[in-house]
Formats: sequence, structure tokens, C-alpha cells
Amino acid sequence: MNEPVDSPVVVVGAGLAGSRTCLELRKIGYGGRIVLLGEETSPPYDRPPLSKAVIAGRRESKPLKADYEELGIELRLGTRVESADLARREVVTGDGPIGFGKLVVASGAAPVRLPGAGEQLTLRTDADAAALRDRLVEGARVVVVGASWIGAEVAHAALRKGCTVTGLEFHPAPLSQALGAVVGARFAGWWEGATLRTSTRVTAVEPDGVHLEGGEVVPADVVVTGIGVRAATDWLRGCGLELLPAVAVDERLRTADADVYALGDAAAWWSPRFGRRMDVQHWDDAYTAPAVVASGIVHGDAARLAHDPVPYFWSDQFGHRIEYVGHHDPGDTMTIDDGYEKGWTVRWTDPAGRLTAALGVDQSKLVAAWRKDVLAGEPAA
Ligand SMILES: Cc1cc2nc3c(=O)[nH]c(=O)nc-3n(C[C@H](O)[C@H](O)[C@H](O)COP(=O)(O)OP(=O)(O)OC[C@H]3O[C@@H](n4cnc5c(N)ncnc54)[C@H](O)[C@@H]3O)c2cc1C
Repeated sequence: MNEPVDSPVVVVGAGLAGSRTCLELRKIGYGGRIVLLGEETSPPYDRPPLSKAVIAGRRESKPLKADYEELGIELRLGTRVESADLARREVVTGDGPIGFGKLVVASGAAPVRLPGAGEQLTLRTDADAAALRDRLVEGARVVVVGASWIGAEVAHAALRKGCTVTGLEFHPAPLSQALGAVVGARFAGWWEGATLRTSTRVTAVEPDGVHLEGGEVVPADVVVTGIGVRAATDWLRGCGLELLPAVAVDERLRTADADVYALGDAAAWWSPRFGRRMDVQHWDDAYTAPAVVASGIVHGDAARLAHDPVPYFWSDQFGHRIEYVGHHDPGDTMTIDDGYEKGWTVRWTDPAGRLTAALGVDQSKLVAAWRKDVLAGEPAA
């Protein structure tokens, strides 16, 4: 095991990936200083409940279970890192520089916003969720821009609260960017009760409403923009790391600088399994990657763990659970199966007949089994 150095491990970003990296370090016996820096003022918490139970008003956001003080983890909230200087081995905050022995980039991602001077809400933090929850009141005209994961979950919560909901989607069907137009079209019916307009381009959010290409203005009391996220790596600009904008790392989550790691939504890792760089931005990835970073920091080149998972994510929307495992290419063969009492599935296979990805609607057990098949690289059953 590498001996702890005087300079601390500095983790930037106190979200799921950052928090768990610190906990994993202690779990495997790292005894040196650990500093966890987070821009938000709440202690680390999980984001998936925000767009589900929290905006629906069924529960509050809760911190992750961890006693940072007891574990000797220096958690500094409300601390934004402005920049990094790799030559000087320091990051710079509003309170001055902090030196590091190892640096872990866990700064996550931030929502993409639309142009315009009108109010647009996005959903990333517990504060965003509380603000949105309070605005979803009966009769409010809610326009959701983007009928993808977050957009659909917000639309579902808004409908249940008696809002008048309009979804505006650039692509020909909900979720079609991720899953293709044929699968995406199956989700359109779930928007019953809302007005869903697909193949519709929003140009700006202005005080009088949401402006569409062609000049139409859709009036709104609440506009929620859910058009994707971008890795929050601006603070690393110019420091010499490769930014895509997620930080490019290998399968051990190392950058080209041996003392700098990146993980979670802020990282794009090289996957030997899929022969490409992966940039998935899902909870499961931020949950599992920290063990690899901690092992790398403690064991260096002798670390045996690598991060090359079969990606997994889920979404709860309109009373259904969607789950997806793996990664499929547009050329993979797609098989849709409706032969179940409840739900339906999609499987994608490569030209060699191997299962590359699977999607299940209300079919958790099958998805779990297929995840193992993708992991094993087995021909599809
Ligand atoms: C509303 C919502 C619902 C979701 N639902 C699902 C779901 O159902 N299923 C699923 O698979 N995934 C879901 N996700 C995605 C999942 O939550 C993310 O993939 C996960 O949170 C990524 O964790 P992270 O630690 O990498 O990044 P984050 O959780 O974004 O944490 C990064 C932290 O770094 C901080 N930070 C950023 N820049 C700086 C800086 N310069 N200095 C200091 N701190 C900084 C940020 O403030 C943030 O607190 C959801 C995400 C959201 C927002």
C-alpha cells in the first residue's frame, strides 16, 4: 500500500461520486488527509428522488448516510473550486489555494439551458427541486422542454398535481435520441393528459412564453428545461487535462497526469468492453466508480480494479419503470417483445449475435439477467 503523503487527497465535487470516493478510501484503509470540496451547501445527497418523490411532494431530499467527521473527512460545503494548477499541485477556491497530493475530479454535470430572458427552471439540485415543487400547483400552465428522462418525470409529477402540461420535443418521439424513433414512439402514449408536440424546435424562453421555430409562442406559467446536461469541468479549462468536455480518463479512471483521477458525470472513460469512450452520466456509474479511484490512489499501478461496467440506468415515469443495460450501436439488430402479462422489452444484438443492450419496461428481473449476459458477452438467448 502507498504510504499517505502530507498533501491531501482533494476531491472536487461533493455529490455521489465524490462522497463515495472518500468513503471508499477510508474503507480500504487510507489514513491520510482527505478534503472534500462542494459548491452546494447541502451535504451530499442522491439526485434521482428529486425528479420523482421530491417534486411530487412525497418526501424531502435526504443526505447520504455518512459521518464525515467521524471518518476524518474534511467536508467543506459552499466551496466552489475556481481553477486547478497541476504544475503547482493546487486547486484554487475563493478562500485561497489548496495543495493536493492526488486530485479527484467529481464535479458532475450541469443542465444545458436555452437562450432567452424568460424564467426557465432546471432540475439538478435539492434547491431546484424544492423551487419546482412549489411551482407545480393545480391549474399552472407548465411547459416542459425536452421529453426525455427528466422531462417525462417532471411532466408526470405536474400532471398528478393538476397542472396543464405541454411537452415540446425536438426529436420525432420521446426518448428517441437515446433509444431510436421506433422504441421512442412507444412512449408517446404515456403522455396522455398532456399535450406532447414532437419534431418541435424551441428557439428561446422569453418573458411572454416559449418561442418556437417559425414564430409561434407557447404561453407558460412555469417553464422547465430538460434538454440534457454538460460535464461541469469549466474550472479545469486550460490546466492541461483533456476535456471533451468530460475529463478523458482510462479504464482505471486516471487522466494523463498520474495523480489526477476523474469519475461520475464529469468523466468519459475508455471502455475496453465496448471499444469506445463512455460518457453515460447515470447514477449507477457514479456509485460504482469510486471503488476504482480509491484503489488506484491507495495501490497505484498494483491496483487490480478497473472500471469497465455494463452501464445501467432507470427512470420512473407515468407509473412505469424503464431500465436499460449495456450500450447499442445504431447498426445492432433490435427485437421488441410484447409477450408479457405486464410491460415489454427490447434487445439489441451485434452481427455476431451477442447481446449488446436491453431495455425493459416493468421487467426488472429480466433486465438484471440480461445485464449478466451483456457482461459475459454471451450470444443472445
Ligand atoms: C433530477 C435528477 C434525477 C436523476 N434520476 C436518475 C435516475 O432515475 N436514474 C439514473 O440512473 N440516474 C439519474 N440521475 C443521474 C444521477 O443522479 C447522476 O448521474 C449522478 O448524480 C452523478 O453523480 P456525480 O457525483 O458524478 O455528479 P453530481 O451528482 O452532479 O455531483 C457533483 C457535485 O459537484 C459540485 N461541483 C461542480 N463544480 C464544482 C466546483 N467547481 N467546485 C466545487 N464543487 C463543484 C456540484 O455542485 C455537485 O454537488 C438523475 C439526475 C438528476 C439531476
